[in-house]
Amino acid sequence: MMRRVYLDNNATTPVLPEVLEAMRPYFGEHFGNASSIHHHGQETRTAVERARESVAALLGCRASEIVFTSGGTEADNLALFGLARHGDHVNTSTIEHHAVLNACKRLATSSVIEGNEIQGCEVTYIPVDGHGVVDPSDVKRALRPNTKLISVMFANNETGVLQPVAEIGKIAREAGVRFHTDAVQAAGKVPIDVDTIGCDLLTISAHKMHGPQGVGALYIRKGTALEPMLYGGSHERSRRAGTENVPGIVGLGKAAELAIAGFERGDDRKMAAARDRLERELLAIEATGLNGTDFRGEPTPRVPNTTNIYFDGIEGEALVIALDLKGLAVSTGAACSSGSIEPSHVLLAMGLSSERAKASIRFSLGKQNSPEDIDFGLEVVPETVSRLRELSPTYSKAASYERRAAHNQRSA
Ligand code: PLP
Repeated sequence: MMRRVYLDNNATTPVLPEVLEAMRPYFGEHFGNASSIHHHGQETRTAVERARESVAALLGCRASEIVFTSGGTEADNLALFGLARHGDHVNTSTIEHHAVLNACKRLATSSVIEGNEIQGCEVTYIPVDGHGVVDPSDVKRALRPNTKLISVMFANNETGVLQPVAEIGKIAREAGVRFHTDAVQAAGKVPIDVDTIGCDLLTISAHKMHGPQGVGALYIRKGTALEPMLYGGSHERSRRAGTENVPGIVGLGKAAELAIAGFERGDDRKMAAARDRLERELLAIEATGLNGTDFRGEPTPRVPNTTNIYFDGIEGEALVIALDLKGLAVSTGAACSSGSIEPSHVLLAMGLSSERAKASIRFSLGKQNSPEDIDFGLEVVPETVSRLRELSPTYSKAASYERRAAHNQRSA
């Protein structure tokens, strides 16, 4: 059978065996509706509340501040639509996931109610620098008297670059503005503490941290009034109606427990070392570079599992397909935009040319990856890159010689 190595863990992660084991009884013997008062309901209610404690422990908050949702997208939408009203101003960044960007786009559209046109929210998209980082002073400068909410992500899904969320939290607090952070790509990879960040709302998603797909959570700081998006029963303290996805929630709780245990063992440092080895050796290929590097060539602080590299002269999509044929799964960026040939909005926002953005590949590691998986990546990527470059009309051999000389000089 063909060997398959998965280095696309920012798209989704495999459910860990311990997580699957924890979930299994809730598909069968423990099937009760967590709102029922009989034995079956009490059994699942206990499991849901235990999972809430585990998620709260991961984020450093109280269990009562956690609302389970159907995933990161719903939690992001609940944060934004739950707070922002017509006429409010929202500060966000240009590199957010589409779960935030498209929610902001919707907030900004005006609506017609009983024949009257009502203006939508005003939204400011804060730019990033060449390393993919939002400058907190830009966030501060963009504040207006009607700013209701700041929404800036914790870690970017394409580059892994960490945003200065604690500084932004401080600015929000001083201005009396609510602060939401999308921590979908940070949870389980770097320690999170909502009080250190100073956020009022924080999004996580189970399937990015070795839990199941279709479940997530929104942290809502006590005292934050939020309008629900779904109307129905009084589930989740009337903040999110709908019968709880018990197996999914149990899986998220277990994934949170495993993430905490992983930090205690130093798994994150081991993962960073594996990622750094992959990155270092891939950057030794000529005409490549790291997306998210500062001027000294030092990488900007990132989550430990992600690297995003451009391979000049190559179509990223073609490289993804060629690598897939060899058994290596990687990505050109956000999974939801794959299939479209549009360059990544994140890389463009960092100032990359459209050509270079399209020549960029994201490698993202997970807890299941072994050193041999990295070896496999290092075996197939360089040979595939050279083969595609040989076929590339824009990457001639003469130019290649010049590039190699420039590359050697750069890395000397
Ligand atoms: N936010 C970020 C940063 C993400 O990377 C993703 C998923 O790609 C989401 C939100 C959406 O999460 P979900 O897939 O659980 O809806």
